[in-house]
Amino acid sequence: MILTNAGELRELLGRHGFTFSKGLGQNFLINPSVCPRMAENSITTPSMGVLEVGPGVGVLTVELAKRAAKVVCIELDERLFPILDETLADFDNTTVIHGDVLETDIAAVIKEHFTGMDVAVCANLPYYITSPVIMKLLEEDLPITSLTVMVQKEAAKRICAAPGTREAGAISIAVRYYSEPKILFDVSRGSFMPPPNVDSCVIKLDIRQTPAVDCNRKNFFRVIRACFSLRRKTVLNCLSSGLSISKNEAALLLDTAGIPQNARAEQLSMENFAAIARQL
Ligand code: SAM
Repeated sequence: MILTNAGELRELLGRHGFTFSKGLGQNFLINPSVCPRMAENSITTPSMGVLEVGPGVGVLTVELAKRAAKVVCIELDERLFPILDETLADFDNTTVIHGDVLETDIAAVIKEHFTGMDVAVCANLPYYITSPVIMKLLEEDLPITSLTVMVQKEAAKRICAAPGTREAGAISIAVRYYSEPKILFDVSRGSFMPPPNVDSCVIKLDIRQTPAVDCNRKNFFRVIRACFSLRRKTVLNCLSSGLSISKNEAALLLDTAGIPQNARAEQLSMENFAAIARQL
C-alpha cells in the first residue's frame, strides 16, 4: 500500500470509516519525498531508536521503521489504531502507545523501550500543540539527541530565529537554551490531505550537552518571560512589570549586566539574558 497515494489513502480511510478531526490537527502527508527526507535527517545510525508523536496512518512511521532499530509512537486518536495495525503489519520494530503526548511520561517510555539506544524524536506535529510539545521535550531533560519536526512555517521562523533579530521571541531564546535549531526544508500546503491553510517547514533541534549559557535555569526563564511580556516596550519596562520590581531596581539590573536601558528584548543576546539572570 502506498500511503502517499491520495487514492489509496482515501480507500484505506474509507474502509475504516475514518473522518479527519480538525481539532486534533489531522493533516496527513501525501508528498512522497517528505517522510524519507525527515527520516534520513533524523536517523544518524541504524542502531538508534525513534520516538514519533502522532503517527496518523503511519506514513512517516514506515520510513522511520525502515531505517532505525525501533520506533515508538504516541497517538491520541484511538480510531487510527486498526489502521496502524494494517499499515505497520510488515514491521516488527514498531510500537504504538495510546495517549496524549502532553500527559505522557516520556522519560518512562524511553526507559522502557529504548534502553541502551541513542534516541531521536521525529514527528509531523499536530499544529495546535507545537510549542507545548517542543518545550515539554526540551524541558524534561530527556536522553534524546535531536528533534526533527514539521511545524507551520511561521512557527519555524520564530522557533529558529537567532537572538538579536526581529523575529526573536521567548520561544526562540528558550529553544536555543537547550538546543541548536535549524530550518531543514519547506513543505507546501499541497503536500497534505486535507491541505492546511498555511505552508510548513521541517526543523531540526540538536540537543546541547550543556545549556547554551551558564546561569540559574529558573532565573533565566523568569527573565526571558519578563523581557518578552510586553511587545515593543523596552526591557527596562518589561523587567519592572514582569518581575514586579521598581524601575530603579530594573535599571540597576540592566546597568550591572552592561545592557542599555532603552534596549528591546529582540536586540539582546543569550549572554545578555544570562547576565540579567545572574543578577537576580
Ligand atoms: N504523522 C502523520 C502524517 O505525517 O501524516 C500524522 C500527522 S498529523 C499532522 C498529527 C497527528 O497527531 C494525528 O495523527 C493526530 O491524531 C495526532 N495527535 C493530535 N494530538 C495529539 C496528542 N495530544 N498526543 C498525541 N497525538 C496527537
